[in-house]
Amino acid sequence: MTQRPEKTETGWKLENSYARLPQVFFTRLRPDPAQSPKLVAFNEPLAEMLGLDIEDLKSDSGTAILAGNEIPEGAFPLAQAYAGHQFGFLTMLGDGRAVLLGEQITPGGERFDIQLKGAGRTPYSRGGDGRAALGPMLREYIISEAMHGLGIPTTRSLAVVATGEEIRRETSLPGAVLTRVAASHLRFGTFQYAAGVGDLDKIRALADYAIERHYADVDLGENRYLGFFKEVAKRHASLVAKWQLVGFIHGVMNTDNMTISGETIDYGPCAFMDMYDPATVFSSIDHQGRYAYGNQPQIAGWNLARFAETMVPLFHEDSEEAVKLAQAVLSDYIKAYYAHWLAGMRAKLGLFSEEAEDEVLVADLLNLMKEYDADYTNTFRALTLGEFEETSLSGKAEFNEWKEQWEARLARQDQSMDEARQLMRSHNPSIIPRNHRVEEALDAAVQRGDYSVMERLLNVLADPFAYSEEQTEYTKLPPEAPDSYQTFCGT
Ligand code: AMP
Ligand code: MG
Ligand code: MG
Repeated sequence: MTQRPEKTETGWKLENSYARLPQVFFTRLRPDPAQSPKLVAFNEPLAEMLGLDIEDLKSDSGTAILAGNEIPEGAFPLAQAYAGHQFGFLTMLGDGRAVLLGEQITPGGERFDIQLKGAGRTPYSRGGDGRAALGPMLREYIISEAMHGLGIPTTRSLAVVATGEEIRRETSLPGAVLTRVAASHLRFGTFQYAAGVGDLDKIRALADYAIERHYADVDLGENRYLGFFKEVAKRHASLVAKWQLVGFIHGVMNTDNMTISGETIDYGPCAFMDMYDPATVFSSIDHQGRYAYGNQPQIAGWNLARFAETMVPLFHEDSEEAVKLAQAVLSDYIKAYYAHWLAGMRAKLGLFSEEAEDEVLVADLLNLMKEYDADYTNTFRALTLGEFEETSLSGKAEFNEWKEQWEARLARQDQSMDEARQLMRSHNPSIIPRNHRVEEALDAAVQRGDYSVMERLLNVLADPFAYSEEQTEYTKLPPEAPDSYQTFCGT
């Protein structure tokens, strides 16, 4: 006689505080069930942090939840409404293919959104099928976890479940659901939506909720909503500086893809830059280069301005005064961004102290990298290791001159060369998710069902500052010209 195993503790501890906002902000609905769900990627450390039971999640009943086939206790599934400037044009949107189950309360008392992406059609799907393809969901998993490894605020990936269904794109593709974990999914576009449909009360309700959720322990000052805007701007100044410092190109910085929490979100057409060039664009639809690498800080500022517009009446009763206040925050944003970036660049060059000429030293290096098609990550890696012959700058007279200046600069500070190297090692990743490596991992998984290539990649990306032996292989550039790489959104 077989005994039924006792039902295991699942660890789910869900609430949905977002659902307490006015009705216009969401639509309650269940995910579309998947035909034959199979767990293909699973993030054990993240599950643990969330307080979820690993064995349970891997079991059929656990996977059924990650597929959207079962709703865990305490969940209140819904699709969020939002708007957004897409390539500059304001559009009413919403979760067209994602369902928010609720917020998981961790053993540490933290709160994280649990969202199923690719979970079927919603009232916000417009022409879309509500589905997601396996390749792009695995890609989001890899890149978001790589960003986390790099120490950059980001949404994370708990799991990918293959649905066993084919979805129609240009060809037929295997479908999948990604479980996305986020501080929240509140976006600049959520505020634009509130401004578009609602009265001031709705915007205030949303702002109060966002403050409670993300800025509860920050002193916002007497002008609370302006203080809130300032804090969001500060987080983005820091976030975008981190992107620039590692060469991350988001690719689709529409206002609906900018979070109130300051986390990176929406890993569609993103990619890491190889050769240093501010004009680098990978996205197949970004014809004007609006979201090129070098434009990202300005674009985030533009997006912050669109966010501020929704709250202007809350900043001051006199609209001219309110606009002045908002503008001051925006000019502080760009200064704060630059300060973060410069501090980060100093660390990348091993500089502890500050000298006025450091800006020129950094600019000169970047110009040389651009001129000689130097790989961004590998150049800093080579400087860190003192392996100058590894870069395409090696042997160039201008580089030798630059190096002399840099070495003289290092000699002028109190810290030893060893300390400088340590600083560089903790700021210059040895590896990034290189496009050809990501593609190789996705090909193995999607074409051959071989997930071992992706697992190895995730392993080395988990600690990009390790400078370990096994990472060396992953620092290599692709044999063919890397600038032909293209990324796509919405697959
Ligand atoms: P994105 O460019 O990824 O920020 O997506 C923009 C909007 O398109 C969001 O509202 C998405 O939910 C929606 N969307 C993307 N793909 C699909 C799809 N396959 N079905 C329905 N909506 C989609
Ligand atoms: Mg999006
Ligand atoms: Mg997307």
